[in-house]
Amino acid sequence: MYQSFIGLEVHIHLLTKTKVFCGCRSAFGDEPNTNVCPVCMGYPGVLPSLNIEAMRMGCTVARALNCRIPPRTWFERKQYFYPDMPKNYQISQFASPLGQEGFLDIEGRGIRKRVRIKECHLEEDAGKMIHTGTVSLLDYNRAGVSLLEIVTEPDMETGEEAEFFIQQFRRMVRYLGVCDGNMEEGSLRADANVSINLPGKGLGRKVEIKNLNSSRFVRLALNHEIRRQGERLDQGKEVIQETRLWNENRDQTEPMRTKENAQDYRYFPEPDLPVFEPDGTFLASVEEALVELPVPRMRRFEADFGLSAEQADLICEEKAGADYFEAALAEAVRRGMESRDAAGRIANWILTDIKHLLGREGIPPKDILSFTLGPRRLAALVALVARGEVSLKNAREAVEVILAEDQDPELIIRERGWARIADPEKIARTVHSVYTEEAAVFGEVRSAHTEGNTKRANTLTAYLVGKVLAATGGRADPGIVRSQVEALIAKTA
Ligand code: ADP
Ligand code: ZN
Ligand code: MG
Repeated sequence: MYQSFIGLEVHIHLLTKTKVFCGCRSAFGDEPNTNVCPVCMGYPGVLPSLNIEAMRMGCTVARALNCRIPPRTWFERKQYFYPDMPKNYQISQFASPLGQEGFLDIEGRGIRKRVRIKECHLEEDAGKMIHTGTVSLLDYNRAGVSLLEIVTEPDMETGEEAEFFIQQFRRMVRYLGVCDGNMEEGSLRADANVSINLPGKGLGRKVEIKNLNSSRFVRLALNHEIRRQGERLDQGKEVIQETRLWNENRDQTEPMRTKENAQDYRYFPEPDLPVFEPDGTFLASVEEALVELPVPRMRRFEADFGLSAEQADLICEEKAGADYFEAALAEAVRRGMESRDAAGRIANWILTDIKHLLGREGIPPKDILSFTLGPRRLAALVALVARGEVSLKNAREAVEVILAEDQDPELIIRERGWARIADPEKIARTVHSVYTEEAAVFGEVRSAHTEGNTKRANTLTAYLVGKVLAATGGRADPGIVRSQVEALIAKTA
């Protein structure tokens, strides 16, 4: 068996309004070549200027990955010729990346691992090339868009770990609000590096798999590549250092090119951009942008509110979902509920009814905070159910009315007369009318008791209780109904 080593290079589009070195709009899906100017088109004599928001977002990701931000960070030109790059060089960072030597702990699905982060650096994206028949079309809207690259150390070993890393990282940048994480649109892209070797022999000769646009492909491509390299070594062949592509139709990696060395890019410092020295104000704004991250938040939900790991994971999938949960919980506690009891009930509602309703109404989970059934209304319902003031069935009906009429649950329940009936006299009247209708059944229960047929007596009693509940539209307190029905059976025996 071989030991495997996986290192990822993950690129994210930062959600800055404008590009990283010019004032052009940064947006996906606009009319081609409409968001361009002399700077991002690489005209001679133009001057780039750094978008400070891009630097702030980049540093925020770096800090969330436990990286050190150096006192001085600057840009280099990375030279290469390709039509999607009008300047013939890309402004990137080489010697002084904005984030250095961090780590991300991935935990869950039986995986528990610290992945060291080598660096995070800020750069500009290239344009997009579309090949159609004999011509290639170029869209430069993407040229110059803020791109942050995160490079890990080769600390992962399986496709599953790499997939999980990307999913956790994606959730993290979405929490930070710096990237939408949309892999299909290319806002998050990954290149995967992998090598294998005999145990204890250190790193092997690496293969890079380029442009993986889903975390599932990352897993499939890496596992395929680990198998392929193992077969080569088994046959006494060497692994060739090269760049490969994932062919999703054939489920295999295929060679693309042999890899150029770092010096092929002839990096040199970008003379048109000053060295960036983050001051106290800038660093404070970075710390301020660091919201509570998904993993610590999940752990807190488990420890403080008794959620299961799976519940916490699902509730924390989106930051908005976790915010919704906490807002509802705070309101339920304000209404006198015990916090763990409230947390469990609210989690159940969110993961079943509300999840279903959001799907039905076509509301993306990230917009849950603007859902008509907001956290305050959910908390009110949960408290009413917990106190036995409304049945679960009526609470679910109330939700439909809340959505249709945009009203508070208390009002709806009052107007529709859905409040639970706990008045013994009111219940006694219904019990009596059922007694009149079902006199024969009452008689049967009594004979069952006399014959000592407890099982039959219980079945018939349950039937009678059900009749009374149905007659009140499910609103009568089941405990009171049962004791009244039993008392009546005993009395007339
Ligand atoms: P390059 O100069 O080829 O870009 P880097 O040292 O910058 O190589 O590393 C790029 C990525 O490849 C990193 O994620 C790193 O962890 C990973 N990597 C480097 N060497 C190996 C190896 N021998 N096996 C697996 N991954 C590797
Ligand atoms: Zn521009
Ligand atoms: Mg590299």
